[in-house]
Amino acid sequence: MESIADSDLYLRYVIGMIDPEILHTTPERHIRCNPLLAQFIVDASFPEIIVEGPFDKRQLDASYRTAREALVTQGWRRLQELASNPPPSLLDYPI
Ligand SMILES: [Zn+2]
Repeated sequence: MESIADSDLYLRYVIGMIDPEILHTTPERHIRCNPLLAQFIVDASFPEIIVEGPFDKRQLDASYRTAREALVTQGWRRLQELASNPPPSLLDYPI
């Protein structure tokens, strides 16, 4: 992983899906390689990801989907900040 800006692992960490204790033992992948999560990023700088089938976010309840989009998009924007200006402690990464 060249940058945490593209890291699915760190995206999940900053939105509270991963405990810091397991951050370094959990496999890394690109954000785009986890489309089920990446589909919730809604930002002009992030090419939209469409998931076809039962896990398509368009199948979800609108209020759940909106809340999920807000959280994951906020996390993605946080990663972009962290990539250029990381705080000294990993514990300060999450939103
Ligand atoms: Zn990948």
